[in-house]
Amino acid sequence: MTLRIGIIHNQEEKSILVLQRLRGLLADKDDLEIVERDPELVITIGGDGTLLSAFHRYNHRLNEVRFLGVHTGHLGFYTDWRDYELPELVDSLSGEQGKSVSYPLLDVVLTTRSGDQRHFLALNESTIRKGSRTMVADVYIKEELFERFRGDGLAISTPTGSTAYNKSVGGAVVHPSINAMQLAEIASLNNRVFRTLGSPSIIGSHEWIDVRLKSNEEHLITIDQLDIIRKDIVSIKYRIADERIHFASYRHMHFWHRVKDAFIRED
Ligand code: NAD
Repeated sequence: MTLRIGIIHNQEEKSILVLQRLRGLLADKDDLEIVERDPELVITIGGDGTLLSAFHRYNHRLNEVRFLGVHTGHLGFYTDWRDYELPELVDSLSGEQGKSVSYPLLDVVLTTRSGDQRHFLALNESTIRKGSRTMVADVYIKEELFERFRGDGLAISTPTGSTAYNKSVGGAVVHPSINAMQLAEIASLNNRVFRTLGSPSIIGSHEWIDVRLKSNEEHLITIDQLDIIRKDIVSIKYRIADERIHFASYRHMHFWHRVKDAFIRED
């Protein structure tokens, strides 16, 4: 059986060199084929951002595609392989049995004042912020009004996204085997008049969050690398998606080792 491989890369000089080497190594294997359309495996060359953009390019075929990241900068959270390991990587692909590991995604539904709905999937997170002044929103958890939020905004992240923007706003790092999403506040107003929980919350896979915006001024809604700026969004609903992202599991890396390597190690 031939494995159909798509390659997505960024434009860094180092990534272009890695692309050329990878193409050469793949060409030597009879059971590996580089394709432009309908790949079964997508190899990204670059950083986490390159893998995020590949995910959004193929997010309509998540059950047919597995991803694998080669990093050409520092070790990333979605990029396991280093550029100098290409021969080992290609050998492991040849004749492999299609094993994979999968992680949760965030399902996002935006509703406008006229009732139109748009649906998205996020691999890292979605954030809601307001162009200027305080954002005011009612936060419902599973139809229960949980709190009226006032502040800069809210971030809702997946477990694999918990080490990205979520961590910068004080959210917890969550092991990706946990099927849950995290709600984190961005600079909430808390005083004698206004009150929010004030800490990040982990929301279960059978629950959902509905953020109902209280003003018709401009809001910025991000979904990974995508920015949506609109005045007519009234609600953003989040839950753990039915779909999952599948990573080719040719090697296992201890999650907490990766966290340590990214955030603590000093060398
Ligand atoms: P970018 O080029 O600004 O990269 C931001 C950094 O986030 C990079 O170092 C990247 O390696 C890292 N990153 C991405 N996903 C990660 C993850 N799951 N765990 C740990 N680190 C991760 O932006 P980009 O490459 O277009 O990526 C978009 C992502 O960047 C967003 O989804 C968001 O999570 C993150 N981001 C973070 C901040 C922040 O922490 N203040 C600000 C902007 C964007």
